[in-house]
Amino acid sequence: MYSHKKSEALRAEAENVILGGVNSPSRSYKAVGDRAPVVMDRGEGAYFYDVDGNRYIDYLGAYGPIITGHAHPRIHEAIAEQSSKGILYGAPTTLEIDFGKKIKEAIPSLERVRFVNSGTEAVMTTIRIARAYTGRNKILKFEGCYHGHSDLVLVAAGSGPAQLGTPDSAGVPKGVAEDVITVPFNNLDDFKTAISHFKDEIAAVLVEPIVGNFGIVEPEDGFLEAINEISHDNGSLVIYDEVITAFRFMFGGAQNLLDVEPDLTALGKIIGGGTPIGAYGGRKDIMESVAPLGPAYQAGTMAGNPLSMAAGLACLEILEQPGVYETLDNLGEKLEDGLVDLIDKYDITATINRLKGALTIYFTEESVTDYTMAEASDGEEFAKFFNGLINRGINIAPSKYEAWFLTTEHTEADIEETLAIVEDVFKNDF
Ligand code: PLP
Repeated sequence: MYSHKKSEALRAEAENVILGGVNSPSRSYKAVGDRAPVVMDRGEGAYFYDVDGNRYIDYLGAYGPIITGHAHPRIHEAIAEQSSKGILYGAPTTLEIDFGKKIKEAIPSLERVRFVNSGTEAVMTTIRIARAYTGRNKILKFEGCYHGHSDLVLVAAGSGPAQLGTPDSAGVPKGVAEDVITVPFNNLDDFKTAISHFKDEIAAVLVEPIVGNFGIVEPEDGFLEAINEISHDNGSLVIYDEVITAFRFMFGGAQNLLDVEPDLTALGKIIGGGTPIGAYGGRKDIMESVAPLGPAYQAGTMAGNPLSMAAGLACLEILEQPGVYETLDNLGEKLEDGLVDLIDKYDITATINRLKGALTIYFTEESVTDYTMAEASDGEEFAKFFNGLINRGINIAPSKYEAWFLTTEHTEADIEETLAIVEDVFKNDF
């Protein structure tokens, strides 16, 4: 069993300076026994090492961006080379043009693109553009999906599809929440009810085409196609939040994989190769609503910064190599099969959702297709599982709602080691 003495000692020190000890709430271990979070020292490929010198096989992948493993030499070199030429110019670069072209080629619905600094900014701006373009105010989103921390998307569902939302965070004005309708994912009936109730008030429908925020949940057959058709008939735009999904499952977006195109798309995470990034783009006529061409404003001192452009380009060049996504899929399958066997062998109540190199284990009987089902999964069992893993050398997100992400650096041997550790956890801790 690992000792986490130094991490534990750092907790108080961190809490005295950083609010809550962490720079993002998901990094606290509140949901898994409120223990001290493991403090990271360095990452290398599929592994990271904590301040106590423990080594972990990492499936957190920094909540998604790290698909080529930690400290990938090619990304490291790209950043080092760029930093020797200047970190930030506040002027156009050829890098951003090259990177923009690469993204546009991979995701053709992005007829025009803009780089920003986070997924939050990207989503927030797509909403502003949709409002500017349609002259409407309301947005419709899906329960349990996370779209960053801007006011408009921190809104919880009302009591039914014809109800407006309520603030999901203190500080979000009630007036803002009144512009948001939230319905369950994969529930077309509620979606139709909401659209027919709010009709021409709805500027846009915002959706994760494949959910990554209450685990990995795929849309049921025809769900996204119906969203497109009904939204467009209603004069509303469709925005895909592909902050997690773009370049996760294939070289392109979930929209390429599923063959449905939104009007606007928000990107982030993987496209920055681990550096801060976001991007949004879509139909040229809609994008032209944005300054300097149109009346909707969006800007950024750090937007399109050369380090993120260089790191992102290097990351996409790695992902573009033949066989990368097949390997991720094969490793994902091996991991899933092994986990399923162990769940059976130790009679654990759990189910797995996997798509290629990403999966979620839910401690519940039934296969999960919406947020209510994910929410109903057993958090105490998950906490036991998480603690068993982190005490033996596997790092996953400390939340029952997150996914495990494979990287290009994980090997079959890592999967075998992982399964041996999971077996030890099921045998001794459950
Ligand atoms: N959209 C989705 C689907 C996300 O998962 C996230 C972050 O986890 C965001 C938006 C916000 O991105 P960021 O944390 O870069 O602001």
